[in-house]
Amino acid sequence: MGKMLVVDLTAGSVTTEPLRAEWLREYWGAWGLALRYYTDAVSPEVDPLAPENVVVIMTAPLCGTMVPLASRMCLVSKSPHTGTIFESNVGGSFGPELKYAGYDGIIIKGRACAPVFLKIDDDRVSLESAEHMTGQGIFETEKLMEAAIGAHGAKTLAIGPAAENMITYSMIGSESYRQFGRGGTGALFGSKNLKGIVCRGTGAVRVADMARFLERTDYYTKNDLLCDDNLWAKTDGTPILVEVTNEMGIHPTRNYTKGFNGRKEKLNSDAIQAAKLGNRACASCPMACGKFTRVNSAEIEGPEYETLCLGGSNCDIHDLEAVIRFNRLCDDLGLDTMTCGSTISLAMEMTESGVHNFNLRFGQVDEYLKIVYEIATLSTERGRDLAKGAKHLAAKYGAEALSMEVKGLEMPAYEPRGNFGMGIAYATSERGACHLRAFPIFATDPHDLEALVSDVVDAQNANSIKWSLGFCDFWGTINTTIEADLMSAGLGEPVSAEELDRAGERIWNLSRLFNLAAGFTAADDTLPKKIMERPLEGGRHEGRVFSRADLARAMQSYYELRDWSAKGIPSSRKLAALGLDTTIL
Ligand code: SF4
Repeated sequence: MGKMLVVDLTAGSVTTEPLRAEWLREYWGAWGLALRYYTDAVSPEVDPLAPENVVVIMTAPLCGTMVPLASRMCLVSKSPHTGTIFESNVGGSFGPELKYAGYDGIIIKGRACAPVFLKIDDDRVSLESAEHMTGQGIFETEKLMEAAIGAHGAKTLAIGPAAENMITYSMIGSESYRQFGRGGTGALFGSKNLKGIVCRGTGAVRVADMARFLERTDYYTKNDLLCDDNLWAKTDGTPILVEVTNEMGIHPTRNYTKGFNGRKEKLNSDAIQAAKLGNRACASCPMACGKFTRVNSAEIEGPEYETLCLGGSNCDIHDLEAVIRFNRLCDDLGLDTMTCGSTISLAMEMTESGVHNFNLRFGQVDEYLKIVYEIATLSTERGRDLAKGAKHLAAKYGAEALSMEVKGLEMPAYEPRGNFGMGIAYATSERGACHLRAFPIFATDPHDLEALVSDVVDAQNANSIKWSLGFCDFWGTINTTIEADLMSAGLGEPVSAEELDRAGERIWNLSRLFNLAAGFTAADDTLPKKIMERPLEGGRHEGRVFSRADLARAMQSYYELRDWSAKGIPSSRKLAALGLDTTIL
């Protein structure tokens, strides 16, 4: 039986408790188990930045083993950016290190009276003063915490000044270039006066039958993971999507005005390969999808596709060096590159269309880089304006028609007018516009609503369990049959694909119950005005909108398929089938 570390920052105490055995076969780990712990601990009405809010960090059952791409770690809390339930996950090696130290997860409560960091050195766990780290960027904070534990290679989670300022799209960095990226995870730490966590673990993760476990791991690695459908992650990584999405006509350009970037070759995979210094992998991963790049003196691990598009094409910036500098500033100061890029592109359009002059214009590099620091430090009026994110920025100046978000979360880099499936995925995601719940960009017909609704529901359920088992998105061919076989070998007891399928659906419905109890309704399952009213310019889907009538049809089908009412409320029959009928929120 594993255990949780329970950190009460108000009391200054650290204790442990055994994992809740009754939840393990229903929620499994990472996202699902963290969600169950979280919904048990807080009211859905909690203020995300109040001491009463709780943050749950959770590893997955196979984390720290030889199974490739199985060590992602999740954080669950209520988002200060969206007000929804929010799951964010990170790769790298912190999750395995936490397991080697003897813990499956961490529950963080309360608020420290002065800045602290959490030091985990196997079973020696303490809260230490972080006064000397205040105001430091993530890179320096991680070095200081590593020095404090006296072990090179200790794993770290850290926040920068953006999170100390509780900017609602600040993030938590890990090992320099990995992040709990979206939804304001950094502000959650900032609100608790928690500057970071450093961990060293010298133990091991045990499996039931090592011979069978290694045989199964080897089999799936050779016969499923390392196949043509997945190897793009090893060769190109996510920058390959620059060409793919342009070809599809779904590459957001100039604040989602166009679906095609005529200068894409400045930011595509070939440009990244030309700037590449080397690769980097998460623990136990043969893909090593991370690409270190350098242009002149600008260096980064990345940029990933979302940053190339939302910090590049969507701001009409076609200078890879500038995008690398933008990425590095965000990574060090502690801002989510997606929301930051999207909010800047909104301010550019507001400036150019005469709504308000932020002195930010499409394609203008100097101000684009300057504003990142101003946002993170709240040092100028325009910085303070943009620090609120797209929804609040647009609302302040009456520019709602230009704001590209759903439930307050800025959209990822896939244009819904060119692929209605992405629109359905954004409208129905529990955390706002998100591409990590369903990703139907390869659908045969990108405008076949009925087929796309079904694809989205299936993908949401599958991804709910996949993230709960800690698997990386880039094992694109994995399914619950493979997951069940690997879990059976690891646990030494039978696990079926059917129970994993049901767990995925359970997690999705529990998230929905939380959001309903937090005040969200079917009216929030919507899309930005621009997507529904303004025809897309350029590319294969020029002239398209995703109309309100189409969205209403899609939502009706979606609710029916999920066995939810016309108001988007899960039926009592569905809740009973999933064992959620007695869950009180
Ligand atoms: S494919 Fe990339 S993100 Fe996924 S586990 Fe491997 S290195 Fe990490």
